[in-house]
Amino acid sequence: MRAVRFHGRGGQGAKTASRILGTAAFLEGFVAQDSPIYGAERRGAPVAAFTRIAKDPIRERGVIVHPDLVVIADASLVQDPAARVLDGIDERTAVFVNTSLTAEQCQAQTSLPGRLTTLDLTDIALQQFGKRGAISALLGAVAGRLAGLHRESMSGAIARELADLGLAVPVIEHNQTIALQCYDAVRTVPLETGAAQPAASAQLQVPSYEPPTRGTARISAAANSILRETGGWRTFRPVLVPDKCNGCWLCFAYCPDGVISMTKDDRPVIDYAHCKGCQICVHECPTEALVAEREQEGAVAWKAK
Ligand code: SF4
Ligand code: SF4
Repeated sequence: MRAVRFHGRGGQGAKTASRILGTAAFLEGFVAQDSPIYGAERRGAPVAAFTRIAKDPIRERGVIVHPDLVVIADASLVQDPAARVLDGIDERTAVFVNTSLTAEQCQAQTSLPGRLTTLDLTDIALQQFGKRGAISALLGAVAGRLAGLHRESMSGAIARELADLGLAVPVIEHNQTIALQCYDAVRTVPLETGAAQPAASAQLQVPSYEPPTRGTARISAAANSILRETGGWRTFRPVLVPDKCNGCWLCFAYCPDGVISMTKDDRPVIDYAHCKGCQICVHECPTEALVAEREQEGAVAWKAK
């Protein structure tokens, strides 16, 4: 069995990429299983998705603890303990990172122990699609290449999955073209499949039930959101072009996280330690005084400044 784990940020397309990979495997005659997991379902929040590919029926369920391949949609996730990117990775694990860094630079800047390969999918998407957006097709294609699936099945899977999302045919075809270029461009690393799973994973688990106060998330201390510095979720940051700002306060009103404050002369100030990079302010600004700039890499560096 090939076990592939995707890590991304809400809105990047990791979940769709895992579906594309599963569908491509299915088109090649494999049994495939894919499933996502969300914590807080917010744009920028860490998410994970899992794809299993096998010749025989897959009886294993749930999260992939010991992946053969890990696909990381944003390098900053490696430094985020909540994302748990490092779980189950060892020297034999193949790891893809979407970054402008080379594999060697990325390995030097992170604690990733696996066999790394990198490609700057975000830059390719910016150049080809002209704006930031989901990189699901590109991620899926790269994962398919590393998992040993064929070009044709990747192309077919991208068409199916993006059509399911309601995308127009020209957009789907453009995604197919660029995704296959990524498929061809990524440097492959040999996939060593069949990592030893802990014995417990093969045993039948009997769930136990807790009272709601333990089984349900609850906030037990007041004003604690300030402690969670969601600036680390950001892949693009909103930046003010002061000359264009007319002081309308719309960005202040629309920011869902309340991280924009206004000065006495009606100019926005963004708290980058907590701005999660959803870009709603950029979208809503009527004068284009806020622009989205890609976070600088090493993307693994802290982004609050
Ligand atoms: S929405 Fe745009 S123009 Fe209005 S205050 Fe914010 S940055 Fe300035
Ligand atoms: S400042 Fe803009 S990008 Fe940051 S959280 Fe608020 S709306 Fe989203």
